[in-house]
Amino acid sequence: MKAIMKQTAGPGLVMTEVEKPTELGPRDVLVKIRRASICGTDIHIYKWDEWSQSRIIPPLITGHEMAGEVVEVGSAVTQVKVGDLVAAETHIPCEHCYQCKTGRMHICKNLKILGVDTNGIFAEYAVIPETVLWRFSKEIPLDFASVMEPFGNAIHTASVTNLLGKTVLITGAGPIGLMAIQVAKVAGASTVIVSEVDPLRIQMARENGADVVINPAEKDLVREVYKLLDDGVDVLLEMSGNRKAFEDGLKCVTMGGEVSVLGIFGGKIDINIDALLTMRGLTMYGITGRRMFETWRIADELLRTKKVDLSKVVTHVLPFEQWEKGFESMLNKQCGKVVLNLD
Ligand code: NAD
Ligand code: ZN
Repeated sequence: MKAIMKQTAGPGLVMTEVEKPTELGPRDVLVKIRRASICGTDIHIYKWDEWSQSRIIPPLITGHEMAGEVVEVGSAVTQVKVGDLVAAETHIPCEHCYQCKTGRMHICKNLKILGVDTNGIFAEYAVIPETVLWRFSKEIPLDFASVMEPFGNAIHTASVTNLLGKTVLITGAGPIGLMAIQVAKVAGASTVIVSEVDPLRIQMARENGADVVINPAEKDLVREVYKLLDDGVDVLLEMSGNRKAFEDGLKCVTMGGEVSVLGIFGGKIDINIDALLTMRGLTMYGITGRRMFETWRIADELLRTKKVDLSKVVTHVLPFEQWEKGFESMLNKQCGKVVLNLD
């Protein structure tokens, strides 16, 4: 079968022929991949940055966002059957640690990540443990089912606090920030302000329903937000992973407001926590992954009932063979989500 692999330690990936997996553990499922989407993590692995060098052991099939069909099940599998359409949670939990046993599987102490610690889904077939499979509703188009995992990040970040009638600032309109605009609107936010520096994504933020988009490279974000709202925003959703965006974002939050941080800064950041967080009485949530499986259920419902429309987020659907073109668009940020079609 064809697969996209990190064959050796170093930059780049290759599409190559590998053996179709034949060995299934008792709780493993063989999935025929029908759509696969490219995540920022795949770009880190492609670039072979410091994080990838410390984490990835080649040879490895990369990729973790997918929609596929169950074609074979292990002897003890009970949750899915042949023919089911499935997406996959990327966080593979151990199911027995303190976190797993107390409803916090997404931050399992022994967490393995699909396509990072195990062979992933950029391939015609993949072996995936049944625990992480989500049978999605048949009304959901495959192109959207493939991005349910990052959509879940947007939902998780936006749902730790009640957004009904609240004013919200989203810093960073990458694919996840774009999805969060729609989620915040569905959750009842009265005003969604977005800060973004990239021209294409500024336009996409508007198309996805942002009330106001501010480019902090051109205008002072804090001043602009307080011009619009005397009290600042009730909630900040940090989705840029940019230090300055986070710092200015905190300044925009009203005293006693809430902050939900998904963005990854890639190391220590120097922020005056006393002045910006503690003394202003803010509540801050760190967000990792998706709640298993509450977030998946919400994602499924919002897509099934078309409360959220991802057609303005998924900008590219390319044949699997054109994966390099997809990676290029991601590297140049000339896209929303890029989906590869394996049908
Ligand atoms: P992305 O990198 O595509 O999007 C980030 C966006 O922020 C880009 O559009 C960029 O132009 C914008 N940006 C950069 N500097 C900015 C600034 N100063 N002000 C405003 N916007 C700015 O990433 P994504 O895939 O949408 O993911 C969003 C963030 O969430 C990333 O930091 C990613 O690493 C992180 N992430 C975290 C988790 C988790 O579990 N915590 C999971 C997935 C992604
Ligand atoms: Zn665990």
